[in-house]
Amino acid sequence: MKRFDIKGMMVFPNPVQKSEILKKENILVVKECFCHKGHNLISPRAVFNGLNGIMLKVKKGRQSGLVALNPAYGYKSRISIDVDMKKGEIWQLCCPNCNEQLPVYSHCSCNGDLVALFLDQKTDFYNCILICNRIDCFNAEIKFNNEVVYYP
Ligand SMILES: [Zn+2]
Ligand SMILES: [Zn+2]
Repeated sequence: MKRFDIKGMMVFPNPVQKSEILKKENILVVKECFCHKGHNLISPRAVFNGLNGIMLKVKKGRQSGLVALNPAYGYKSRISIDVDMKKGEIWQLCCPNCNEQLPVYSHCSCNGDLVALFLDQKTDFYNCILICNRIDCFNAEIKFNNEVVYYP
């Protein structure tokens, strides 16, 4: 297996290789990511094909709950707890630990915001994952050493 040294990411044998969706042998998996205060967002409470998910707190108006995202890059599955998230809605993405809203990096082309999850505890925008806060907007980027290395 080829080593892949993006900080906070690892290459993982694709557990769903047999599905028609993606026949890649290896997939890129987020193994560590942090809020801007350095809290780990990877949680064993939501497991996707044996991989610990990315747990975020979500808020919209008076609603709030948790959402777990599949840590495999390019897989858009998620589990939401206590909230109904409908396609096209914009939610605030927060750290479940400190409750603070994750920093916005830039606007998404859908008019949502691209929110940063940091790949190390330095929490600068040089190494981060950017995800859109609009439900089912598939925009996501990985920045490594300040360059965008992966598009959807
Ligand atoms: Zn936090
Ligand atoms: Zn978007």
